[in-house]
Amino acid sequence: MTTLHGLPTKPQLTADTFYRYADSLLKGWSLVDEGHSVLGRPLRCYHRGTGGIKVLIWTQMHGNESSASYSILDLLHHWENNPSEAGNTFRTVSLYIIPILNPDGAESFSRYNALGIDINRDARTAVSPEAKFLLDCVKKIEPHWAFNMHDQRSIFSVGESGMPATISLLAPAFSPDYFGIIHHRERAISLIGCVVSKWTPNALRETARFSDAFYPLAMGDYFQEMGIATILVETGGCVINRDTGRLRTTNFLLQALHCICHPNTRDLAHSGKYYYALQENKDALRDVKLLNCKVGNFVLDFAFQLQFVPNKDAFLLVFDSAGKLNHLKGYWELDMKNETSVSLSEIQFQIGTVIEKLPLVWKNAIQNNHTELWNSLA
Ligand SMILES: [Zn+2]
Repeated sequence: MTTLHGLPTKPQLTADTFYRYADSLLKGWSLVDEGHSVLGRPLRCYHRGTGGIKVLIWTQMHGNESSASYSILDLLHHWENNPSEAGNTFRTVSLYIIPILNPDGAESFSRYNALGIDINRDARTAVSPEAKFLLDCVKKIEPHWAFNMHDQRSIFSVGESGMPATISLLAPAFSPDYFGIIHHRERAISLIGCVVSKWTPNALRETARFSDAFYPLAMGDYFQEMGIATILVETGGCVINRDTGRLRTTNFLLQALHCICHPNTRDLAHSGKYYYALQENKDALRDVKLLNCKVGNFVLDFAFQLQFVPNKDAFLLVFDSAGKLNHLKGYWELDMKNETSVSLSEIQFQIGTVIEKLPLVWKNAIQNNHTELWNSLA
């Protein structure tokens, strides 16, 4: 697997940056449809391949969820460098890619479009030009397979294990009564099972199944209902270093295309069990956890989340919770039991707000023990 050198997976990826890298790699692709976002940024659908199996991938419908757009760059780069493999793939599939469906959100580092609409809740009404563009493309293409690419929050662990879910996968439900599984959802389940059945135990330790709730307004659920086998991919893991999740997502897409191209390697009867063997993701992780902090007469754990500040390319600490936090693991943990006590007045934090000033003792401990984290802070 060739990765794109010199482009680390930062939280923010704008359309300008994406196309600066993608333009030369998209030479062999045709532009089949073009539209505009609320603020006039381009929406584009590219196509390559002559095969009869039509596959559609769209990325960054939530503007601040960039991992899969990096994965698209990885794939384009991979095919450029492996022309015979690309030739085989594109003789069997016709691949359609809509990169960065929400370019305004990508620019402002927001989940929403410029009108504040969540495009992934706009499937039925298509008020936003971005949702309308996607739906128009789907109607025109009539894909057999659709890949709905997102980033999940860093709080998700594989089950209760405390292992980061670097990728979570889901064949979305098509109705609240999803126990009556219908054919195309079964295909999506089989395809996920087919891919993960070949993964190593180490990769599987970081792979989860996304929550199975039914969101009738979401694109994936709507497409599944329309009869398109749809797969939700949520890249996750550490927010500062997203490379692991990005590469796992790149590999997932490549292997999923391989399974689609070589259906003989896919044992439909058994691959479902691999899907159901994936543990569901659970809210069991925080970015930073300080254990056994002495505050006045108390001994407490504190958890913080990291909030990306695009114009500074750095992170702020946001107060998440305090108490005896045995149910949470931290990407960065620090046992403060040997540090001196801080006064109550030094930790007057409000839940969900940015920490203006950390107690000096805590600041020094982070700086001395977790350099990567310290260097990432604004
Ligand atoms: Zn999302």
